[in-house]
Formats: sequence, C-alpha cells, structure tokens
Amino acid sequence: MFLTETVWDNSIGEPSSISIFLVADNQICYNSIPAEYCTKNANIEEDEGVNCLVSLGKCLQQQAKASDIAVATIKECLKEELLEELSIRFVGDVINPKAKSDYLDDVAMYELCGYLVHARPSLTNCQDCKKSIVADELHLPDDFLAVDLTKMRSKGFLTFVTIPMFKTIREIEGVIKWHFNNPEHFYVLDTFQHCLTKICNLHLIPIFCEQHREALIPYMVMEYTKIRHHFEAKRLNNLLLPKQKAKVKAKFKQGKLA
Ligand SMILES: [Zn+2]
Repeated sequence: MFLTETVWDNSIGEPSSISIFLVADNQICYNSIPAEYCTKNANIEEDEGVNCLVSLGKCLQQQAKASDIAVATIKECLKEELLEELSIRFVGDVINPKAKSDYLDDVAMYELCGYLVHARPSLTNCQDCKKSIVADELHLPDDFLAVDLTKMRSKGFLTFVTIPMFKTIREIEGVIKWHFNNPEHFYVLDTFQHCLTKICNLHLIPIFCEQHREALIPYMVMEYTKIRHHFEAKRLNNLLLPKQKAKVKAKFKQGKLA
C-alpha cells in the first residue's frame, strides 16, 4: 500500500505521498470514529455538505472577525505563546515520548518530516539550523527504522531529517493525533488553537541554532499543525463524500420521477 510514485509537488503545497500518511492514519487511528460524530457541533460548512472542517485560514478569519482583530495578530500571539511555553521546557532528549513508537506511524511521519523541511525552505536558510534538522542518509544509525520507507522511496531526492528533528515532530504529532482522536476536542471552530495550546506543554529538543531557534520553533510547529489539519480535512471529506454522492443520486432520481 505504500509503494506509490513519490513526487513532491510544491504547486499545491503537499507531497503526493500524502496518501501514505492518510492511509496509515486512517488504518491506525481513526477507523473507530463514525463520520456523523465528526460532523456534530463542528465547524463545518452546511451549504454544500461536502466541505467539512473549514481551512485554517477561514477558521482564523472567522475568529478575527468575531474578536475584531487581524488574523496576523492572532498568529503572532500564537507564536509568542508557543515560544514562551516551549522554551522553558527544552530537554536534551525526549524520555517518554507522547507518541509511542509504532513502525507504520514512524515511517510515515519520518517522510512527512522530510517533506516539511523540503517544502518550507526558510527552515534551512542558515547552515547551522540546517545541520540540526537535515541528515545525511548514510550517517543515520542502522537501527533507526523510521527511515526505512524514505530510503526505499528516495531514489536520491527525498530529504532525510536528523533524529532530534524526527523526535520533535513525533512529539507534536502525538498531541495532534490525540486531539483529532478525541471527539470532545476536535472540529470546534478554534481547533487549531486548542491543538497549539496542548503542544505548548511539550518537552522538546532545542533544534535549530541559538540565533534562529526563537523564530523557527514556533514557525515549524505552526506549519506542521497546519499541514495536519489539512490532512484531517481531506480525510473527513473522503469519509463523507460517498454519502453526499448517494444523496445527490437519490435527489436526481426523485427529480426524474416527478
Ligand atoms: Zn540558524
């Protein structure tokens, strides 16, 4: 199921290997949540019925409108909060990971880390920052199995990340997965902020150089969370789309009979 063609397409801002993550995600975490439950009390667009879980941009726009402040201001506040909270909890290594190690999760996540670094060039503008997050494939230890899938699919052009970078994203992912897997917390209008507030409590490894860490850690956390919200919206749409199609078909039939 994993061996699809890997081409990173920046024009739409996501890897075609997105399917890997969606497949892994669906199988591992979300099978038990019925679509009806997902849509209850949610930030879902009612008109079309198909576009559920509105985009982050739209979500923030609505909040900005409600509180009469600019979207950029909300984003800046979130970044500041992240920096303030995370920087007091930096640790040398993650001892008890939030996301327990699971081979399928890990290989999909490792490739997603590479995609994040590839798709957000500002993370690697500085050589010292780059050194802390980008790895040479040959220098990764043999017993680091998360790299398996990326090695298999790389053909020499995928980005390999360092173990601290992978562990950092795995921590963040642990929170996001819990967030989306908990029916009481997801798909409310401020789902993104809820997620970030929980991420604020993490103990992370201080990647990036000292000079740029303050700016890049919050940026990276937000970009990753944004990507995951995007995936989640896709997953939910995939769940609901067949039902919508069936409804349209039924209406069409009714129309024909009338
Ligand atoms: Zn730097």
